[in-house]
Amino acid sequence: MSEQEPLQPLSTSQREALEEATTAYEGQLTEDAARYLIGRGIGQAEAATFRLGVVIDPFPGHTKYRGMLAIPYLDRSGKPLSIRFRCIVKHEHRHFSHGKYNTVRNEPVRCFNVGAIFRADDELHLTEGEFDAIVLNKIGLPAVALPGANAFKPRHRRMLAGFSRVWIWGDPDDAGAEFTNKVCRSLRQAKGLRLRTGDVTDTYLVGGEEALLALLEEERRRATNDRV
Ligand SMILES: [Zn+2]
Repeated sequence: MSEQEPLQPLSTSQREALEEATTAYEGQLTEDAARYLIGRGIGQAEAATFRLGVVIDPFPGHTKYRGMLAIPYLDRSGKPLSIRFRCIVKHEHRHFSHGKYNTVRNEPVRCFNVGAIFRADDELHLTEGEFDAIVLNKIGLPAVALPGANAFKPRHRRMLAGFSRVWIWGDPDDAGAEFTNKVCRSLRQAKGLRLRTGDVTDTYLVGGEEALLALLEEERRRATNDRV
């Protein structure tokens, strides 16, 4: 599929199947999974807002995701457009023929939490991880996520072009730098933040909301100084 090609809209039956699966998995959120999420700064309220769940009783095509966290990619009204599955068992995922993150084959790359685009004023935040985006939303920063540099497509550039500023919270590693650089090269309003402690979630767990807001303030000041 060419990068320029727009996303095929989902059929009504696809949308219904996704909604049915998401509702079921939400209801199957186990204590283990809830504990895992709390360990990443995601409480009950966020889990409910983002409709996180667990695949206990898999829907057709989801058998190999049994036991995994279900992370729905919701549209602006909270209805799922796709579901990503995160294995939360500490093992070598490839020995079990899956990755840490898994998607149904041939699904196009989507943007996580597109609703934030409609709720945000003139600034938006972009992360690599879904959980990082959830943490930023929790502290009042409207955020979307795209899983890595390869996920950033021309249609995403168009989607973000209307904001006066798009803050990029790339992970402090080579892949994160590539992500930040790719977005900044194609989007004039994009600006990378300098995370030091770890990714957004790590920073939040160590320093709380204050640590993240301080980083943003620091970059805001730097951006202003650059202009004068
Ligand atoms: Zn696994």
